[in-house]
Amino acid sequence: MNVVALIERKRNGGQLAAGELRDLMRAYAADEVPDYQMSALAMAVYFRGMADEEIEALTTAMLESGRMLDLSHLTVPRIDKHSTGGVGDKVSLILAPLVAACGIAVPMMSGRGLGHTGGTLDKLESIPGFRTRLSLEETAAQVERLGVAMIGQTKEIAPADRKFYSLRDATSTVEAIPLIAASIMSKKLAEGLTGLVLDVKTGAGAFMPKLEDALRLAHTMIALGERRGCPTVALLTDMDAPLGVACGNALEVEESVLCLRGEGPADLREVTLALSAEMLLVAKAAENEIAARRRVEEVLASGAALDKFRAIVRAQGSDERVVDDPRGVLPQAKIVRTLEAEAEGFVQRVEPRAVGRAIIDLGGGRTKVTDEIDPSVGVMIHHRPGSRVERGAPLATVHARDEATFATAAAALRYAIVVGETPPPTRPLVSHRVTARGVEELSFTGAS
Ligand code: URA
Repeated sequence: MNVVALIERKRNGGQLAAGELRDLMRAYAADEVPDYQMSALAMAVYFRGMADEEIEALTTAMLESGRMLDLSHLTVPRIDKHSTGGVGDKVSLILAPLVAACGIAVPMMSGRGLGHTGGTLDKLESIPGFRTRLSLEETAAQVERLGVAMIGQTKEIAPADRKFYSLRDATSTVEAIPLIAASIMSKKLAEGLTGLVLDVKTGAGAFMPKLEDALRLAHTMIALGERRGCPTVALLTDMDAPLGVACGNALEVEESVLCLRGEGPADLREVTLALSAEMLLVAKAAENEIAARRRVEEVLASGAALDKFRAIVRAQGSDERVVDDPRGVLPQAKIVRTLEAEAEGFVQRVEPRAVGRAIIDLGGGRTKVTDEIDPSVGVMIHHRPGSRVERGAPLATVHARDEATFATAAAALRYAIVVGETPPPTRPLVSHRVTARGVEELSFTGAS
């Protein structure tokens, strides 16, 4: 295979054939194609895009670079959710146990932090000992026994995406619809699902900030799912500000536990319940939206989702006391210091990309594939856009490992959180439902 010729063709706006993409991804997963060539190809795709048939072939090639999870013997529906990525987006940690506690199998494969966004695997691994690298057999056995497993890609499952994902992260080639769609759908289709719900983010912190691009991404992924016999639905949710209060790995685990206890921030709870209810609908486990919503609310209130999270933590090798005493178990940062509002007014913006980058500066994310992350660091954002604050009120709390990184993050947050005289226009938290049949506008504006 002549990889240079493939890069050149894509660079010049040409198309790659299915067989070429299959051979390329197989060779890349087997470490036979160097990262520098794959980086060049990713950049060519970023600028030139891909035709629908190329996106489908790339997805299939990445999916077939590894094995598939076979859960076809299970009698219950197998449904998962995947987010296109955000800041403070810890929904998966709450939703996976919640939906499993509703009797649906959730074989969830997630990613690490990407660009300015956080990753579910990094969050889970902030719980000491938590194993995300389960073998296919271990995953299948756990899903059979508990109804849920929360894993990452391995050399066995979606290995091409595992490599390509971290390469894109380090080469600024994340924000391309073909690459995002193939990355997400190759992982999800490898899980052998009977249905999938996508959380497609829009707004300043999303990889596709504009509504029209987010819709295009949603339609692309839905078509990939449906063509492979996996009913796929997307909700468009707001990422114009971080989701919830906590941003940073261990802090987000703690907030997820609060939410599983029925506490936690209203916006996080709302987005989680909306996506969970959608999973029940895709699974045909509820007659209509109202019944689905009632069921997920009841299961959350009953404590069954919290118990399921405890069972996941125990099964995946970690300390289940994280459920009763998160701070006693999760790593804590040395410096915890609050920034106050310098003037009274309304919070106009909380710029999610700046918050995400502040977390990376604190050591909670990566700038290179090989970076180790510090799970204890992060920021707590105490207000959402629209909140009224008095002068001197706490705006954000920085959790840092040293004075130098604290100072960098504090300066970034002063820029990221804008207070002004008038309240900003409200944005819906969950704005659209997209299916193979079309787009439905939703009206929920959410709680701030
Ligand atoms: N999530 C993924 O799994 N891949 C992407 O490319 C973006 C978000």
